[in-house]
Amino acid sequence: MKVNIGSIRELRGGSIGFQGEQAVEVLDEVEELGLKLTGPAKIEGKVTNTGEGFLVEAELSFSYEANCSRCLEPIRTTQNLQIKEEFIPDHSQVEEDSVFTFQGDTIDLTKCINEQVILALPMKILCRADCRGICPVCGGNLNQRQCECKVQEIDPRLEKLRSLLPTEGGGFNGKPNK
Ligand SMILES: [Zn+2]
Ligand SMILES: [Zn+2]
Repeated sequence: MKVNIGSIRELRGGSIGFQGEQAVEVLDEVEELGLKLTGPAKIEGKVTNTGEGFLVEAELSFSYEANCSRCLEPIRTTQNLQIKEEFIPDHSQVEEDSVFTFQGDTIDLTKCINEQVILALPMKILCRADCRGICPVCGGNLNQRQCECKVQEIDPRLEKLRSLLPTEGGGFNGKPNK
């Protein structure tokens, strides 16, 4: 995605609007989580000549599909991001990776958009915050149906120990103290 700034190149304070789309390649690690972008990222905003450089202010939106980490149900969602990045001329003596540069009359947003999308992707995806996941016994989706499975929560060894503890009545195993 490139923006031509020729018309405001020499116009300090001037700004131009732009909009477009860009395909984003996600990292392999993200794809392994089952996450896939469902189309190109869309971007709309403006570029302003600040005197020192060009400020890009835009709204980025992209959609992806993935599987819930708990119940494995497919999810489709759209995410919106605000971008605010300054681009400085390439001949500036700045040796920082964090700074975006441009050459001539063209601001290339490709790298900026890629970075923003990848940073915004979640590492853990839930279909909803309180997703109940899958029953470890029958494999049923607990969001859809509560199954009858009894999940053994108490370790049987602890259960045995508990029967040895003094209970009501004060005596051993519930018998009154003599
Ligand atoms: Zn879920
Ligand atoms: Zn079950």
